[in-house]
Amino acid sequence: MDFDNENRIISPDFNESDSDLEISLRPKTLNDYIGQEKAKENLKIYIEAAKGRGEQLDHVLLYGPPGLGKTTLAGIIANEMNVQMRVTSGPAIEKPGDLAALLTNLNDGDVLFIDEIHRLSRSVEEVLYPAMEDNALDIIIGKGPSARSIRLDLPKFTLVGATTRAGQLTAPLRDRFGVIARLEMYTPEQLSQIVKRSAGILGIAIDDTGALEIASRSRGTPRIANRLLKRARDFAEVMADGVITEDTAKIALGRMEIDPLGLDLIDRLLLTSMIKNYNGGPVGLETIAATIGEEAVTIEDVYEPYLMQIGFLSKTPRGRVVTPLAYKHLGIPMQGQQQLDM
Ligand code: ADP
Repeated sequence: MDFDNENRIISPDFNESDSDLEISLRPKTLNDYIGQEKAKENLKIYIEAAKGRGEQLDHVLLYGPPGLGKTTLAGIIANEMNVQMRVTSGPAIEKPGDLAALLTNLNDGDVLFIDEIHRLSRSVEEVLYPAMEDNALDIIIGKGPSARSIRLDLPKFTLVGATTRAGQLTAPLRDRFGVIARLEMYTPEQLSQIVKRSAGILGIAIDDTGALEIASRSRGTPRIANRLLKRARDFAEVMADGVITEDTAKIALGRMEIDPLGLDLIDRLLLTSMIKNYNGGPVGLETIAATIGEEAVTIEDVYEPYLMQIGFLSKTPRGRVVTPLAYKHLGIPMQGQQQLDM
């Protein structure tokens, strides 16, 4: 059995096979961006105000689980502001000099998108502070007692930072963002609109029930919805007349071992091993990780948000607990959980 998260069909993380798909399916304007009403409404106002004043937009921090549309939204911000976007990520900026090179190459007004911004090193972060605050770059020239610092002016830019873990951002960095938006998981109805929009772009025939079936099993995540749509098309072409209906979607998703709530083998393994080995918890994150052979961060970023969203897992000070709802879904009777929870 392959439990490699990279290849997991319902992994919300980006993988190679997504690349051409994602580029063609990314909405370019706020109006095309489905859902996230709160973030969208606020951004609309900030963008209009900044444009009205002829200024660049304030720095924006987007946070939320992977695949919810942070990169897409950054691109939309650049597009709506009529500026270019440069894309990089926290781990890709190794040295302060790397960031300095990026910053000095920007044009006035440009958007610099830094994905996984919580992974910037401390020394790189320190270059970012004056850049965000004063559009300035402080450079130290020389060494030892004769060293001196000179300040270079940078183009006026908007930093859009994305992170799955806002809690890991240092306070000084977080405080320098004027706009902080949290992206929420999408409802099946919103995902169904996204699936239909994507199907239209890709020329895939799908009816409303087929779209809703895919949407309901996509864990609130557009990236997964688009991926499942592509797979369901294969099934529809080979097994039916090419149209994705509720029935073909059900067959396709069943073959991929994705259940009606969007849980796959790993989700079920996580829950059942907590039930079998620890009577449903409370269990610590590290223990769960060791039991199912996954990294703790992956469990925290990828699996847990959805399991918590649907009320299958809850976090207590003593660890994670499987809820009665999950027992019911898995068809496992609850035994002695109450005594243990005392
Ligand atoms: P993140 O940066 O949060 O990991 P992305 O911005 O890369 O997520 O989004 C993944 C894919 O999901 C994109 O290619 C896009 O097609 C789709 N997507 C995300 N959000 C939306 C949305 N609100 N409306 C339509 N499609 C979306």
